Amino acid sequence: MAQLPFLKVLMAAPEIVPLAKTGGLGDVAGSLPPALREMGHDVRLVMPFYRVTQSAALQATDTGLRIQAPAGLGRLSAEIWQTDLEGCPVYLIKQDSLYDRDGLYQGPEGDFPDNAQRYIFFCRAVIELARALGFPADILHLHDWQTSLIPAYLKSGIIDPGPLAKSKTLLTIHNLAFQGIFGREIFGQTGLPPEMNSIGGLEFWGNISLLKAGLVFSDALTTVSPTYAQEIQTPEGGMGMEGVLASRQAVLSGILNGADYSSWSPENDRYLPQTYSAQDLEGKEACREALCQAFDLQEPNTDSAVLGFVGRLAWQKGVDVLAEAAPLVLLDDVRICLLGTGEPHLEAQARELAKAYPGRVGVQLLFSEELAHLMQAGSDILVMPSRFEPCGLNQIYALKYGTAPVVRATGGLKDTVDQFNPLFGGGTGFLFDRPTAPDLLHALREALWTKERVSLWQQLRQNAMNRDFSWTRSAGQYSELYQRMVTD
Ligand code: ADP
Repeated sequence: MAQLPFLKVLMAAPEIVPLAKTGGLGDVAGSLPPALREMGHDVRLVMPFYRVTQSAALQATDTGLRIQAPAGLGRLSAEIWQTDLEGCPVYLIKQDSLYDRDGLYQGPEGDFPDNAQRYIFFCRAVIELARALGFPADILHLHDWQTSLIPAYLKSGIIDPGPLAKSKTLLTIHNLAFQGIFGREIFGQTGLPPEMNSIGGLEFWGNISLLKAGLVFSDALTTVSPTYAQEIQTPEGGMGMEGVLASRQAVLSGILNGADYSSWSPENDRYLPQTYSAQDLEGKEACREALCQAFDLQEPNTDSAVLGFVGRLAWQKGVDVLAEAAPLVLLDDVRICLLGTGEPHLEAQARELAKAYPGRVGVQLLFSEELAHLMQAGSDILVMPSRFEPCGLNQIYALKYGTAPVVRATGGLKDTVDQFNPLFGGGTGFLFDRPTAPDLLHALREALWTKERVSLWQQLRQNAMNRDFSWTRSAGQYSELYQRMVTD
């Protein structure tokens, strides 16, 4: 078979683990590039140089390169700093007036009011960076609305694309809920030609959507699971973009995210009091004890179950559905641990639940990598009642940790969790149809029933722990897509 060409890939992302992270996008942008590099591609990354990045204790150095790009109604310059992600160069756009602040996209008052300006600048800066480096990328791989103007600039004819003249653009949609919507008056700041301020361009119900620029003008689109790729073309899942997405159906596909098992495996997890494996699960007991301690819970007996929830406290994640079901779930001898931050009313609801069930419901309203790992290892069941879930990483991690996922059958949850069947012993978790308390309760009861039957539970855990969602598989699919894009 002919050797496929190695490609030059420039990946622009608003967050990259371990330099900055608010969610799954950061995990993907941190894991995919090294996996692509191992396949032989020349992958380089670009991200804003945030305050949190400066303190991430990494060896970033000033390259001495300087670029200029439009910002607001004027221009700003930026320093180009560089660091390394497992052999992939990462270029950091350093413009402190835009990026040196607490938080990536928002502060205590909500979204930063100059987010449009911050990411319009970033998009232009990525193109200027390619020019400064003389990097003729075959593929420009972009992530979410913060990078979505790049294809519009390249197709607009208003800028000299330099070494990107022949580049193909791929936009990965991590979550269609984030559309980069701003008032129409912001359009002027983009510098794009007025004809792009239309229904066939950025205009979106009287506003502009930066994401839409990417949806319309990218050469190809992916999202993070095959089921979500279908859902976003429907009125129920399309969040107003279904028409645009359906019109681009021919170039839209779903590629599941992978998990980074070098940091998410119970066999080598540095956050756990005791590691364990599918062959020897003894350490999981110690993790459960540590989890109960960390959440101030009375130690449950071995037969009962510890239920975990970890994630953003947002409408999307259905944490309110869990809170509604909790009084009935707690009729059984179970414990509930909840780790997350987010919307104030959901945080308040979680706090109240903990207050009503001291010692049985534990809540930690913070972002803690350590607790997130302990949650995966120490829980028996991970609950994800998501209203929608593009891919979801937590259920993938849960499988590896022998923690049974109880998930709503939507998006990536549907693509990664198989319903356990006690008759045949197949399956890795429990799925339910609607994001309602009765449906969740039904699935939880099924999980608890299974847990009481030791051999069935052991079987389920083995099935789960042996599933493989490593990046190698996903990176292979991206690589194939890149190859198709450059040969088309
Ligand atoms: P999303 O990207 O929609 O937030 P994902 O399931 O794709 O959801 O990814 C969430 C990631 O963020 C996971 O790695 C999860 O462990 C992490 N995470 C979410 N909330 C917290 C938290 N409060 N503390 C630590 N990690 C968190």
